[in-house]
Amino acid sequence: MRTKIVAGNWKMNKNLVETETLLTELAAKLPDTTAEVMVAPTFINLVSAKQSLDNSTIQVIAQNMHFADSGAYTGEISADMLLNVGIDTAIIGHSERRAYFGETDEILAKKVTTALAKNMRVMFCFGEELEDRKSDNHFNVVASQLKNALFSVEASEWKNIILAYEPVWAIGTGETASPEQAQEMHAFIRKTITEAYDASIANNVSILYGGSVKPANAVEIFSKPDVDGGLIGGAALKADDFVAIIKAI
Ligand code: PEP
Repeated sequence: MRTKIVAGNWKMNKNLVETETLLTELAAKLPDTTAEVMVAPTFINLVSAKQSLDNSTIQVIAQNMHFADSGAYTGEISADMLLNVGIDTAIIGHSERRAYFGETDEILAKKVTTALAKNMRVMFCFGEELEDRKSDNHFNVVASQLKNALFSVEASEWKNIILAYEPVWAIGTGETASPEQAQEMHAFIRKTITEAYDASIANNVSILYGGSVKPANAVEIFSKPDVDGGLIGGAALKADDFVAIIKAI
């Protein structure tokens, strides 16, 4: 079912103590909301984050996972390891993973397949680079990212997919897509899914926008009909900003 979601991607920020401090503040200030609220701390703090949010509705999710079940993959974390500590959702395909760690559509497709086979939820990130938008190629790029990594998924597995459209030029830059640009792309994404599957899958998947969402622009972006929430980077690192963005939904 299509739900509203606000998720914070903490990236490689916050040590153990800072994680506990931010989570305590967030849990205390969390407004009443029907939206799902998620945070993605770094791997090393997932277990303690889960413990400290024991009595909270805030969900802890992973920033990444590997496609293999186990084995000689130094430095990697498997889906089973995440599930074993109670983490059932992973971000897959973040633009920083694509840009700095060589994650191709082919690798991402494998990660998606593994996660869904384990009944995990996938928050799949995708989005065009600035040159793609300037050359009016952004719709093609997004369609091919979706097709290459997601469109071999069974129709029945889409219930475990959350999409996060994140134009790369808007991530961490302070430059946000306008609410109209976000709406236009989200509507295009639903149309592309309808063509590949059907309208019911397209209308039931939550599509988040990510890219410099702040308290000042969240209400306007979230007011668009095809925007179901946000994946938040920088502004998720301050409790008051993140709480303000949750209130905006
Ligand atoms: C992100 O990294 O997913 C992101 C949206 O970052 P920021 O909000 O800082 O642009």
